[in-house]
Amino acid sequence: MSVAAILAEGARRHGDLPAITLAGTSTSYRDLWDQTRGYAGALRDAGVTEGDRVAILIPNVPDFARVYYAVLALGAVAVPVHALLKRHEIQYMLTDAGVSLLICAAPLLAEGGPGATAAGARVLTVMSPEPGEHKRLEDLAAAATPIDTYLPRSPLDIATILYTSGTTGKPKGALGTHFALIEQVNVLLLNTFDMRRGDKIFGGLPLFHTFGQTVALNTGLRAGAEIMLLPKFTGEAALSLILDQGVNIFVGVPTMYVGLLAAAKARPEPAPALRYAVSGGAALPLAILEDFNKHFGAKIHEGYGLTETSPVASFNQVGSEPRPGTVGQPVWGIEVEVARPEVFSSIELLETGELGELVIRGHNLFSGYLNRPEATAEAVVDGWFRTGDLGTKDADGYITIVDRKKDMILRNGYNVYPREVEEVLVGHPEITNAAVFGIDDDTHGQEIVASVTLVSGSTLDAHSIGEYAKERMAAYKYPRLIEILAEFPLGPSGKVLKRELVTRYTRE
Ligand code: ATP
Repeated sequence: MSVAAILAEGARRHGDLPAITLAGTSTSYRDLWDQTRGYAGALRDAGVTEGDRVAILIPNVPDFARVYYAVLALGAVAVPVHALLKRHEIQYMLTDAGVSLLICAAPLLAEGGPGATAAGARVLTVMSPEPGEHKRLEDLAAAATPIDTYLPRSPLDIATILYTSGTTGKPKGALGTHFALIEQVNVLLLNTFDMRRGDKIFGGLPLFHTFGQTVALNTGLRAGAEIMLLPKFTGEAALSLILDQGVNIFVGVPTMYVGLLAAAKARPEPAPALRYAVSGGAALPLAILEDFNKHFGAKIHEGYGLTETSPVASFNQVGSEPRPGTVGQPVWGIEVEVARPEVFSSIELLETGELGELVIRGHNLFSGYLNRPEATAEAVVDGWFRTGDLGTKDADGYITIVDRKKDMILRNGYNVYPREVEEVLVGHPEITNAAVFGIDDDTHGQEIVASVTLVSGSTLDAHSIGEYAKERMAAYKYPRLIEILAEFPLGPSGKVLKRELVTRYTRE
């Protein structure tokens, strides 16, 4: 078996059905697999062999899927690189992962080319309109004999190295096994989502990131669905995929819901095809969830996960009534518990309802961070993965995320959880999104800052937002500094980059 079996088997079962669609052009399951076998033949001829690490720098276009499954089909390890990275960041990843070949989309060559060269890796291109400095994978494939089928892998062989996107630190390469990825897809399909043959799944989450790769690509193709790709997210384009192209399952991070809702208000048409939506990757403010449910008449099911957990660890199962404000119950076969956060050498589980650090155990766990035995030993204790997230679990097993441990603000000795403050701010009808963080302060230890974005045309000012917050929150937690931004800095997976917001206040 191999993760590549998802597509090989898809071709057998769903041959002529559309597997992947970009800008109205669809590729069937059979064609996608045939093209993948062709790419794999070319890569084999170019010297790629089992266990090799091959980097992929391709946006959300069908070539991402072809190259990803081709690499996996050869028994090599796929190292998807975030499409927004600059050359030094690419060099860092390729060097860290020991990559000798980068498959780069022509539009991303400006950073990918120098990054690969500096890391001593060769480059092959896709999407290049004409021959250039690097060989084109399409040309090599035209001259190569396609592989017959994929090379079987053992369950614990590494399939992917996914760099955690670095919202909080230097990226670490999480090693994903074939077993973890395949089990995750199967369990999600059997027991968590409701994805059917012929469904149209929103494909705007970046495929280089665990969320898009597992939930849209691998799970979608396993279901026989059609992945409706969107290489560059805008609310209008996402809405058009729903209203004009029949997307019936939307999958996104919270910032995408903000953009989608803004677009939907400018184009208020019913979306009868939309069945449900999935949110994860960051906290979804209740006001956004409610607005979405009301506007679209379809429900958002929120889940929780990390790159290290393949990613989905808990979910508000489709088919049951979601419990807003929670990230659902642990996915079948996965344990999510709450542990004492200040104990590091072992895992001390807390009682139901107690607040602590979320820890995860199960078939979905990564097998460690590449080249970082110490970081791995810190993160995986007694077989449990320490998430760094604070939360609770209730008597029914529903998990609530309170915040990231590192994001907690300590002001005058009081713990302030940014997420709680963000929820209140986003409750204001003219605030579309909020990011709250702490900055160093001589008097209070830390001070609370809120950055917000507003609905277009709003004349709200910082003072009135401050008053709004003050009326609704205890004195120790309302934000003292408020800034209105045109937009938030976003990480490669579309999450708000709080670190960048904080850095602007950091003293030299
Ligand atoms: P880091 O740099 O800390 O590894 P990342 O954004 O690169 O962050 P990911 O694996 O993409 O890493 O994200 C995992 C994190 O996303 C979780 O630890 C958690 O803080 C956050 N997260 C995921 N889902 C949710 C959710 N539903 N609600 C709140 N936070 C969430």
